[in-house]
Amino acid sequence: MGLEQFSKASVSMLLGENSPAIAEGRAFGVQTLSGTGGLRVGAELLNKHLKYTTFYYSNPTWENHHLVFVNSGFTQPRTYRYWDAKNRAIDFSGMIEDLKNAPENSVIILHACAHNPTGIDPTQEQWEKIADVMEERKLFPFFDSAYQGFASGDLDRDAWAVRYFVKRGFELVCAQSYAKNFGLYNERVGNLTLVISDAAHVAPLRSQLTWIVRGSYSNPPAHGARVVANVLADPKLFDEWRDHIKLMSSRVIQMREALRAELIKLGTPGSWDHIVKQIGLFSYTGLTPRQSEHLIQAHHIYLLRSGRINICGLNPGNVAYVANAIHDAITK
Ligand code: PLP
Repeated sequence: MGLEQFSKASVSMLLGENSPAIAEGRAFGVQTLSGTGGLRVGAELLNKHLKYTTFYYSNPTWENHHLVFVNSGFTQPRTYRYWDAKNRAIDFSGMIEDLKNAPENSVIILHACAHNPTGIDPTQEQWEKIADVMEERKLFPFFDSAYQGFASGDLDRDAWAVRYFVKRGFELVCAQSYAKNFGLYNERVGNLTLVISDAAHVAPLRSQLTWIVRGSYSNPPAHGARVVANVLADPKLFDEWRDHIKLMSSRVIQMREALRAELIKLGTPGSWDHIVKQIGLFSYTGLTPRQSEHLIQAHHIYLLRSGRINICGLNPGNVAYVANAIHDAITK
């Protein structure tokens, strides 16, 4: 099950150290092979032991959600609407309608913050509405938290949605990744947090999880988890790390503003407000596959054909070049 000190610190970082669910012994964690491993262990638990078969993911989503859940035994993959391409915003009414039509006991994958790939998160009011529908329709929340602290720069704010669902009384699971916020991608450090309503079920659940882990990779690697556990447990190191993620996330926000300003300066057709409204590492620019291809071929700017760019690739030295290239792709 991994390093207990690490899992405890992870659960507390996600739910908040004063979380009643922790105090009541209803929340616990298991160390996993990064965020993907958390998704896999959680999906296997839900399918093999708890007999869930239908799962929903946003359209679009991180491309691995489908594969991980299907490989874990889920047989009914479905999507809910999320991206409104015309308005370059969240298709909230579409999302709610799809959740309302979901069969009871469907597992709903929700991005805790910094939705990948669109960069658009629901507002707090929208999360409240999502929770209402999920409660009414008896849908099970599976949060994917790959960017805590990297979206707003504030660990608590980025965990707001998960904490809100816990406060509302949901049972849930959440896969956490330390690949980005700790820069430990290759160490595969992650955690699966589980929150349940009855502390008496913790021991049997831990036992089922032990079988899943034992039968797939036996035990997780130690060193990355020790790094995270030491930093989270030491107030001085914790403050230093928190300042680092604040710095990194502000840099991303500044680059969003710089790119938008350059495009406005060039008079590039269209509105570019979505670039600054989006959050996290990625931006769905709204560029078409043809325009994206043009950026790659003519300007050596590499992005997905969906128009998704990684804002981390921008810096004060290249942002004007990128804006000029986007202008060229759109106006040529
Ligand atoms: N979930 C989302 C939404 C992601 O964007 C990623 C990584 O790109 C992951 C999960 C998995 O991350 P990892 O397994 O590298 O921790």
